[in-house]
Amino acid sequence: MSAPLVLHVALPVPLPRTFDYLPPDGHAAGEEDVGKRLRVPFGSRELTGVVAGLGPATGEGPELRQALAVLDAAPLFQGELLDSLRWLARYTHAPLGDVFATALPVPLRQGEPLPDTHAWAWRLTAEGVAQRERLRAGSRPRRLADLLAPSEQDEDALDLRMDDWRTAARALAKRGLAERHAVPARPPVPAPRPGPPLNPEQQAAADAVAATSGYGALLLDGVTGSGKTEVYLHAIADCLRRGRQALVLVPEIGLTPQTLARFRERLGVPVHALHSGLNDNERARTWAACLRGEARVIVGTRSAVFTPLPEAGLLIVDEEHDGSYKQQDGIRYHARDFALVRGKALDVPVLLGSATPSLETLHNARSGRYAHLRLSRRAGEAQPPSVRVLDMRKRHQEAGLLPDTLQAIRAALDAGGQVLVFKNRRGYAPVLLCHDCGWSARCKRCDTPMTVHGGGRRLQCHHCGARQPAPPACPDCGGLALQPQGIGTERLEEMLAERFAGVPVLRVDRGTTQRRDGLARQLAQLGDAPGILVGTQILAKGHDLPHLTLVAVVGVDEGLFSTDFRAGEKLAQQLIQVAGRAGRAGKRGEVWLQTHHPDHPLLNTLISGGYHAFAESELEQREAAGFSPFAHLALLRAEAQHVDAAQQFLQAAKQALRKHDATLEMHGPLPAPMPRRAGLHRVQLLLSSPERRPLHRLLDLALPDIHELPEARRTRWSLDVDPMDLY
Ligand code: ADP
Ligand code: ZN
Ligand code: ZN
Repeated sequence: MSAPLVLHVALPVPLPRTFDYLPPDGHAAGEEDVGKRLRVPFGSRELTGVVAGLGPATGEGPELRQALAVLDAAPLFQGELLDSLRWLARYTHAPLGDVFATALPVPLRQGEPLPDTHAWAWRLTAEGVAQRERLRAGSRPRRLADLLAPSEQDEDALDLRMDDWRTAARALAKRGLAERHAVPARPPVPAPRPGPPLNPEQQAAADAVAATSGYGALLLDGVTGSGKTEVYLHAIADCLRRGRQALVLVPEIGLTPQTLARFRERLGVPVHALHSGLNDNERARTWAACLRGEARVIVGTRSAVFTPLPEAGLLIVDEEHDGSYKQQDGIRYHARDFALVRGKALDVPVLLGSATPSLETLHNARSGRYAHLRLSRRAGEAQPPSVRVLDMRKRHQEAGLLPDTLQAIRAALDAGGQVLVFKNRRGYAPVLLCHDCGWSARCKRCDTPMTVHGGGRRLQCHHCGARQPAPPACPDCGGLALQPQGIGTERLEEMLAERFAGVPVLRVDRGTTQRRDGLARQLAQLGDAPGILVGTQILAKGHDLPHLTLVAVVGVDEGLFSTDFRAGEKLAQQLIQVAGRAGRAGKRGEVWLQTHHPDHPLLNTLISGGYHAFAESELEQREAAGFSPFAHLALLRAEAQHVDAAQQFLQAAKQALRKHDATLEMHGPLPAPMPRRAGLHRVQLLLSSPERRPLHRLLDLALPDIHELPEARRTRWSLDVDPMDLY
């Protein structure tokens, strides 16, 4: 007798393997099961997993258990998506079951059925057609039957045409005269509205996308306001004409109702949004609509990169440099990079857009791997802003603003413009200090200063979220000389409101935009009247602020001297993006930049040569220092209550790695740049290789040993391939 076929099931457990199960009673296992969900017993629990393959029992472990149920009639993962997710599991060295779980909306992960995505319509049966005229004239069933006689009707349409038609429908259905059936959802959409004619650079870019048959990566490198979105819209319209689906990824804060409305209006098809504002069931419905090919244009944030695209034609990643594309826990994937992998597997073009492309992407464009499309001018009338650097050294300031800056704000308001004051520091002040003894408020769990909020009344740790009231007196010396030190957005808001009484001052930061439409509503409040916006980098993206004429950048100096090798890149991107908010329509904008380091090379290069000059010199430095994109990195992180546990684990892990490779560069174990967070000590081991392949080969060989290390049980550890932050 041949061994029974077993199902290899990927389960969401942190073990790098699949688990074998016998098929449920009455179910003959077959290739068609791959990609379907399965309910299985696991220890004393039940889990939902995904069939990853099948084969003869490998015979390991105790007796084989039987799966409880196959949950899907058709696989949720198949073809390209299944292959791409397998690739992702190999690349991130994460358990396949975790990758599948990450790719699924929560209800599907938990084993709920694939939701309905269709609408319902009612029609008369043959019997109903024959009997209609015999129904009593004027009765409800007759009125409904009359409505259905010319053609079937959507439930939505019936809602508009007849009160309480449902009772009548039930009566007809009971007598076999009418029936309900599923029809594709067709929300009403206005006819597409044409956009402005493309300028020659935009046209060339749109043509290049259209001319890409099959896979190709294209970088749309266009200054802020150059009309990249117009190019996307043309490329998507072209994709729709070819009968294909388009996926657009946008950063979390870029997916505003404004953006969606623009896509809907211009394309004249339903646009499915996937973002954190949806509840789990809505996400599952949209995911299902993608799987069924009903969703034709999907605009979503990071995790939308996992949507099934059976009829894909185009993938777009807007603001491809944005840090929110990298998932920082669980499966540490990068949505842009995964979009490129999927694009290749789907054999469709991938368009990456940015005014400040990441150095990795620029490097790929320069080496010819990506087509490099440039939009060098702002679209329409808009002029590039002029930039002025103000030396803050030894100058009098008012809440962090120089008198010159205050004057410029006054002048801009008097001229009827709006002003953006940019400070990447939320809260009232970064530190609460005792002037008598030097004590400062620190988070006990992170060893870092706590940020002052609520005008000085509350303290909050921006690393772990801990909150407490500010002490009335110094806990060390009992003195009453506690003072907030430094400036955050709250304090700027307070000072500006006082100084420019009568002018609306709006603060925009993570504290004020909890709700997804928060920012849009705030901006609507402001309208086109003179006013001041105070905000963090949330303001640097996505939102059209056509009346903005002055951007005052206060406090970028923290970013100039960071130890993070990406700090310079992030700062340059932020400055360019925030400067790009000024003068978007007609009015020429100005950018005033206050700094204690007016001669810093980064600022000099950026201001005299622009982003590309900066990128050029930064790439040279990265090459010399052996950092990404010239080296491939992987970071093993460990966190524990006791620093020794984390150290010992990474030391043992290093030995396990060394057994397989004596030469690959390893740094550490060393305390992380932020050595303690939320009460845990943090230690890390950095692996670096000029080639990708040896790094991955080593990880493949050593990780099974590392999982088995006894030290692994005394610490929380994770592997981050291509880490964005080394914090
Ligand atoms: P980006 O995405 O590069 O920031 P957008 O596509 O949002 O730029 O365009 C910026 C502004 O310029 C928008 O108001 C848009 O309507 C306008 N615009 C874009 N392309 C053109 C064009 N070819 N002619 C006139 N206006 C344009
Ligand atoms: Zn004190
Ligand atoms: Zn903390």
